[in-house]
Amino acid sequence: MPCSIPGRKKQRLGTEHSHRPNPVPRTKKPPGKFYRPRNHETPFFKLVRDHFDEFENVYFERYQAKYGYWRPVIRSSIDKFFKCGDLKEGFARVRCPDCHEEFFVAFSCRQRACCPTCDQKRALLLGHRLKDEVFVEVPHRQWVFTIPKRLRIYFRFDRALLGKLCRAAYDTVRDVYALEIDGNLGIPAMVGAVQTFGDLIHWHPHIHTIVADGVFTETGHFVRIPDTWKHRAIDIWRDKVFDLLLDEKKIDPDTVSGMKEWKNSGFSVDNSVIIEAEDKEGMQRLVEYISRCPFSLTRMISTTKEGDILYRASNPQCVPFPIAGDHELTAGNPRNFEVFKPLDFLANVTQHIPDKGEHQIRYYGFYSNKKRGMRGKKEPTEVKSQPGVPEGDTTFVKKCKMTWAALIKCVYEVDPLECPKCGGTMKIISFIERHQADVIEKILRHCGLWKEEQPRPPPPEKAESKSDEPKLDYGFFEQTCL
Ligand SMILES: [Zn+2]
Ligand SMILES: [Zn+2]
Repeated sequence: MPCSIPGRKKQRLGTEHSHRPNPVPRTKKPPGKFYRPRNHETPFFKLVRDHFDEFENVYFERYQAKYGYWRPVIRSSIDKFFKCGDLKEGFARVRCPDCHEEFFVAFSCRQRACCPTCDQKRALLLGHRLKDEVFVEVPHRQWVFTIPKRLRIYFRFDRALLGKLCRAAYDTVRDVYALEIDGNLGIPAMVGAVQTFGDLIHWHPHIHTIVADGVFTETGHFVRIPDTWKHRAIDIWRDKVFDLLLDEKKIDPDTVSGMKEWKNSGFSVDNSVIIEAEDKEGMQRLVEYISRCPFSLTRMISTTKEGDILYRASNPQCVPFPIAGDHELTAGNPRNFEVFKPLDFLANVTQHIPDKGEHQIRYYGFYSNKKRGMRGKKEPTEVKSQPGVPEGDTTFVKKCKMTWAALIKCVYEVDPLECPKCGGTMKIISFIERHQADVIEKILRHCGLWKEEQPRPPPPEKAESKSDEPKLDYGFFEQTCL
């Protein structure tokens, strides 16, 4: 970035640089090779900007009956998403020590389920963290647990049940394994992810898990469990879910016996995907999959003049038209797209934003925090020194800086710390945080990056406490796990 910082001598300020629209480094090399900060004007961003206030205003009369009470976390998350990547909210300064090329990297909002960029980063980080600190190098299996449509509503109106549903999934695995090994040989190891969305962002609470394909004995020895009893999983799962909802007084025994008569129970357990011990990439992909954002920007394929959104399913194949009498008809005609009015799209997306403190990733058995702590696997991973990280930082800060660069490399396959001008290694020289508002304004004005207009009016509610403001990416490691 050819802009310099006020008060810094010896740096040439070219006037031709003063009106650059964004802090993208100039380059003589072919475009695309270097990291470029992302473009904010995604269709989703525009949708939020143009329709969110109206959505909040009409929520009570149009959406509350179906989606439940308005949750304040929706407004606070969307407000933060709206500022994600905004330089006015603070940034890191990255500079080349050789040629003094410089650019800024804005901070992320770190919101869950409403910011695809932050969710993608979180998923990548989670993958690395699980690999380094949690998973043992043994074969794993993906288990996916679903429940009938009839029961989904209870989880929408009582989100605390979602964690209990995840627990029920673990108990199911444990009981299935116990059938084979007499219960006493050892404990399973599982990472569970609560997902509330289906392919078309509708309400569809279900559990994805990654389970070691066997149990760990007292001494940490791994014993693989054969497939013998896995067909029993569905009955065990069904009973666990019924027990949960009976305990919580959501359903009564008559409902249970009625549902047990159904020809197609609506419960399912899929454990057909195996990842072998050495398949590190497979594990990373699986973790990213189970912790992904509820919606994908690439699937918002078109919007009409009125702002309607055509959202397609992840499977682009056409769904064959069902034959008369086919069970597909009774199950509902499957679609691979949905057309949403703008406010309906927002209602569907925001229902998946978790409440504060609502954990989506959970650890059980041999992978529980307690067991990991006992094994001494809980200590923070040692961070090897990285190019671009100045000496003297704490391990924690080093980890954060490394993380940013590593993530960019993962996502864009470019090294954000490679100087676009001379090819040297750029360094993160400082963080300018949000509370330094005057410094931010001074620097951005100086560089011609200050934007006067407020793109969207501030929220009607009272200002949030300071601790809720957007922060650096520091917390990703700490936030995602129990
Ligand atoms: Zn974000
Ligand atoms: Zn340079």
